[in-house]
Amino acid sequence: MSGEAAQPAGAGTSEVPDGEGPAPRRLTPLRIAALYAVLGATWILFSDRVLEALVPEGPLQHQLQTAKGWFFVLATAALLQLLVRRLVAELRQRDERIRSTLDSMPDAVLVLDEGARVVEVNRAAVDLLGAADKPELLVPLAALAERFQLRRADGSPFPPGRYAPLRALRGERFRGYEAIFRRADGRDVYVDITASPVHGRSGRLAVAVVRDMSELRRFEEMREDFLATAAHEFKTPLAVIKAQAQLLQRRGEGDPHGLQVLNRQVERLSRLTHQLLELSRLRLGGPELRRETYDLAEQVAEVLARLQSLAAGHRLTLARREPAPVYADRERMEQVLVNLMDNAVKFSPGGCDVETTVARLGSEVQVSVRDQGLGIPRDKQARIFERYYRAHAGTPEDYGGIGVGLDMSREIVSRHGGRMWFESEPGAGSVFTFTLPLAEGAAHG
Ligand code: ADP
Repeated sequence: MSGEAAQPAGAGTSEVPDGEGPAPRRLTPLRIAALYAVLGATWILFSDRVLEALVPEGPLQHQLQTAKGWFFVLATAALLQLLVRRLVAELRQRDERIRSTLDSMPDAVLVLDEGARVVEVNRAAVDLLGAADKPELLVPLAALAERFQLRRADGSPFPPGRYAPLRALRGERFRGYEAIFRRADGRDVYVDITASPVHGRSGRLAVAVVRDMSELRRFEEMREDFLATAAHEFKTPLAVIKAQAQLLQRRGEGDPHGLQVLNRQVERLSRLTHQLLELSRLRLGGPELRRETYDLAEQVAEVLARLQSLAAGHRLTLARREPAPVYADRERMEQVLVNLMDNAVKFSPGGCDVETTVARLGSEVQVSVRDQGLGIPRDKQARIFERYYRAHAGTPEDYGGIGVGLDMSREIVSRHGGRMWFESEPGAGSVFTFTLPLAEGAAHG
């Protein structure tokens, strides 16, 4: 974006006429030079002849010839000065236009030269950083980053040389690069950086466009806090409803089918509540994982059996099972398994098979959950792990959910040193897979 913006700003300004209608005929440098060539040649050719015809040979004619020479030199100097002044004025005007265009932009813009030195900033950059004036920002990028404590969005430092604009100087392009810095007044600001290389005649430059995201971030935090508080408030009433329903079931009172439905729905609501709470915990850095060594394959089998009782229309199978000792947080891994299997059931409305496999591959265990359901539309696949994103929202296949399960599951798996991904064929089904490192000593056993 910024690369595209930089090019027309420099290239097009001199072509734009100031007023309406056709551009006025102006004394351009080329015209001045042409005029000079014509007048100079005429003068050289005819002035001597005119002088000889008017003044007889003698000292007066010699004096007049010297004066004529001086006149020629002075006229040339005057013309040259006119030319240079026009050129300088034109450059200034062009520079002024570029500057005022940059200054009118709401986002901060920084231009870096090949030596990674900031050579231009706009007004918004001065305001965003809380600096006193532009010149104090025209320093090497590393010095600027150090002064304003530029960090990654999670607060960790950037490895040296990894700043987006530096990488843009090496030809890379960035969009949506999140970072934090500390303003001159001590306030932390969340920003989104777009950086692009620009190839000019005077070498390679990099342009960084920095957008203040603090407001948006604050709203996001408010939303997350609100959801966490609401989820917390739901916990107690849900536990009471669940206990009462179980009591009625034990006593054999009430409609058994109704109580079963009630149990199932309470279970679902509890899971959503739990997901929201867990998500906010993970967001805040999360409590430590409570790890223990246990067999993941056994856990998969247990979860399958439990969910099978809630998904009567589906056949949940464990197609491959290999012992898989892992050093993991049992409770959190259960959430991951429940999320994947629950999704597989939910998005297979026809009630087909859901096939799970647990296989060892080198030093890892790989768990896959395959369904033959709706699949995920191709144009939505890239966003599937985004928080609150629901690929089927607003379609006839919207089976509810709040879109946090996959985000949370991937976060949990990556905290254990594993990876999660999926493949999906719209109309044919999906397979979600994750890996976990095997517990130490078990890798090749
Ligand atoms: P939720 O299921 O609560 O909406 P998730 O984060 O678990 O949230 O999933 C996000 C979205 O990904 C779902 O809303 C759905 O559109 C899509 N999705 C997840 N799993 C599957 C699946 N097995 N088949 C088809 N779509 C899926």
